[in-house]
Amino acid sequence: MPVISRCRCLDPVLFGSYNRGSQQLVVRFAGRLVIVWWGCAGDVRLPVPWSIQPLPCVPPTGTRPSMQIVHYPHPALRWKSKPIVEIGAELRATVRRMFELMYEAKGIGLAANQVDLPYRLFIVNATGDPEQIDEEHVFINPEIIRRKGSEEGEEGCLSLPELYGQIRRAEEIVVEAFDLKGRGFTMELTELPGRVVQHECDHLDGVLFPDRMTESARHEIQQHLDDFEILFRDRQKAGEIPSDETIRKRLRELEPS
Ligand SMILES: [Zn+2]
Repeated sequence: MPVISRCRCLDPVLFGSYNRGSQQLVVRFAGRLVIVWWGCAGDVRLPVPWSIQPLPCVPPTGTRPSMQIVHYPHPALRWKSKPIVEIGAELRATVRRMFELMYEAKGIGLAANQVDLPYRLFIVNATGDPEQIDEEHVFINPEIIRRKGSEEGEEGCLSLPELYGQIRRAEEIVVEAFDLKGRGFTMELTELPGRVVQHECDHLDGVLFPDRMTESARHEIQQHLDDFEILFRDRQKAGEIPSDETIRKRLRELEPS
């Protein structure tokens, strides 16, 4: 239990009773609330020598807006996500909710940007079938380390509903990432899974599939994009969606540090 002993070294004031189920302990340390993770699966850390994660900007449970898929031109979709430095119960719950949202929307991949989170993380189930849990994959801090060949194929996006386009992508890729248990893995992918992973990696850099369309093809869908823009701005004016500035401020606050 290395994290517990570290916790004792800090002599924290217990803020709330610890929860063995969620494997987290919230303590007040140096005037700030921090969350301490432990346990077998909970004490998973990426190669960052840090086991205490500041928690100054997470609103109390119950006041967080419920997670939902955001649509173009939401600023989160243009956010270049920061690498995740620690995996804990909250992140695992986030991933589970992302799978639910993806299945509800009949999708096969979903990036954290698409649920308004600045994390370098996406999920994939290329079958789109919630029963096939063996096909569920979580990619944390992914890097495409090799690309080979080129082929065109149709793509859509849950953040651009009902919009499709022909996109040229590498035919084969090799991707490295971490899973939810913090284990590094490598995958060689082709066909649909390869295309989905390339599409989702783009999301983490704030790139959307229309950005990769030819100029003439993009011209054809411009009206559709303009319609998304009008709808989004109308919803902001109606107060249903925060201002771009408020959204960006929140994203900056949530970035892993
Ligand atoms: Zn997408």
